[in-house]
Amino acid sequence: MSSKRIFTTPTLAEKHSGIPDRLIDKARAAKSLVYEGKTTSDTTPRQRGIAIPQGISKQRFFEAIEELKKELGSENVELNDKELKEGWYMEHPNTHDMMPILDSEELVASALVYPGSTEEVVKIVRWANKFKVPIFPISMGRNLGYGGAAPRVRGSVTIDLGRRMNKILNIDPDDYTCLVEPGVSYYALYEELQKRGYQHMWIDTPDLGGGSVLGNAVDRGVGYTPYGDHWACHSGLEVVLPTGEVVRAGMGALPGNNTWQSFPYGFGPYSDGIFSQSNYGIVTKLGMTLMPNPGGYESFMYTFQNESDLAPLIEIIRPLRISNILENVAQLRHALQTVAIKGKPRSTYWTGEGVMPQEVYHKELKKMPVGDCEWVYYGMSYGPPHIRKYKLDIIHQEFTKIPGAKRIDPSTLPADEYFWSRDKIAAGIPDLEELLWVNWMPNGSHIAFSPVSPIRGKDAEALYALAKKRHTEAGIDLMPAFCVGLREMHLIVEIVFDSKNEKMRRAADKCLRDMIDDAAALGYGEYRTHLVLMDQVAGTYNWNDNALMRFNEKMKDALDPNGILAPGRCGIWPARYRGRGWEMGQGSGEKSEGEGVAPGAGTRL
Ligand code: ADP
Repeated sequence: MSSKRIFTTPTLAEKHSGIPDRLIDKARAAKSLVYEGKTTSDTTPRQRGIAIPQGISKQRFFEAIEELKKELGSENVELNDKELKEGWYMEHPNTHDMMPILDSEELVASALVYPGSTEEVVKIVRWANKFKVPIFPISMGRNLGYGGAAPRVRGSVTIDLGRRMNKILNIDPDDYTCLVEPGVSYYALYEELQKRGYQHMWIDTPDLGGGSVLGNAVDRGVGYTPYGDHWACHSGLEVVLPTGEVVRAGMGALPGNNTWQSFPYGFGPYSDGIFSQSNYGIVTKLGMTLMPNPGGYESFMYTFQNESDLAPLIEIIRPLRISNILENVAQLRHALQTVAIKGKPRSTYWTGEGVMPQEVYHKELKKMPVGDCEWVYYGMSYGPPHIRKYKLDIIHQEFTKIPGAKRIDPSTLPADEYFWSRDKIAAGIPDLEELLWVNWMPNGSHIAFSPVSPIRGKDAEALYALAKKRHTEAGIDLMPAFCVGLREMHLIVEIVFDSKNEKMRRAADKCLRDMIDDAAALGYGEYRTHLVLMDQVAGTYNWNDNALMRFNEKMKDALDPNGILAPGRCGIWPARYRGRGWEMGQGSGEKSEGEGVAPGAGTRL
């Protein structure tokens, strides 16, 4: 690709999913790196034609689409019959997974529909029940690493909620809460707070700010301020059930209430939980709490020299984190990521086969402001200077018990150092830098392995060892990050692969599946996963003869008798699909579909 090309990106003013003006230059630079790394055309021609979902004839499907157009207006229904365009983070497709671990045409939608209101979502749901067509809701579709915008069942009709339902319905400057529709990104919410002069409130953002506030919470995503557990920080849902009823959970069920966003529970069973990481409803509104501006903040960074520092360091982190001396999700990253985040392909440093040798990345680190090391800790202290000093002194005393630990003075770091991106994120300012390590491979794509463990040195070591073993076997560079919550930690391992290289895709898939099995054998389970891994991960939560999945299936059949809503998501298959080989696991290869669906089963609404 020509480096002279000007890489424009839609702005927030132009598009709900656009970039804020303050990040335009960063977006341009990031886009140019992504496009430099593409070795083939940005579009994949369709070999297999439009993906008609199983269980309906082609003719009946097109009749159904005509009816949907009548219901919603033909401008709001679109067939997915064109070439598949890959794009990049800021201009992502809503038709398929732009970082496909399977063949690009496997996890694709048959059509897209753009509702403009909850009432229109109800219409879509009723239509899907009538024709027994699978539907798959997305808010923004930037769930990259976990399937992006792709549906689990090939040929589902994707409901792109964000395109027309993207209003910030309320921001309450006294209660520090907001109410949003699916298409509100972290960028949009942050910019709106600034515009309204609400600097006394912070949002919490994930590593990248383009995701949906609602979608991320529903999928139990995390961020890096003390409000980083997004699901825990939400209050209030509006949900369209798979049979078309609309439910408001929590205080929202009480007409005339004024506490929907301030008291999450309401009265009776706490039903919100069944709508996160499930396929039981389409969330059309979500309330979120906002954090008070702590009156100052200060990022800090420590480096550690040895691989073996991991266990003692985690032991030091645990009590500091539980007692809130470490106040946000504590991030301990492998130093290879510090090299990769520069955004250059790995071939810049090394062109050999298999895993990059340690001496190669150590040589690069020595040239960087961070200096040579094996682990990097990114943290943030909140509050006015004297409060911060109290906490930072304790942290320094504890961290430097590890021989060779170094505090990196932020004033020595250049403005383009990744540290400053982490600084923004931990202050609730959405950024666009994290994706740069995706350029490590040509046609760079990523998929995550995210197991949860206790905050203990021996657990960190066990997970690191199994990840390292499987990465070495697969010839994939290991870039782990330990993210420490209050009582547990997630290990996030992003596998970067070339999505146009089938051999590498298969190797990545095998590496992930092996790690999931190895981790489960040691008692670790994933907190979230990619569409193709959901069956396998759900299968590891199998205590008492799969009692939890049987309960989930019972609920699925009761709430969604026709099995139309996101079949298979989180491993929950409706009755019509069960026992027909839809589950994916070790050895599934590129095949995501089963053998048909039960004919005629289900309920007429
Ligand atoms: P992001 O917020 O990162 O852009 P998505 O919009 O893709 O991500 O949401 C993440 C996942 O959560 C989706 O793949 C979908 O399965 C589920 N999801 C998103 N929005 C909704 C919603 N409004 N109702 C139900 N499920 C949703």
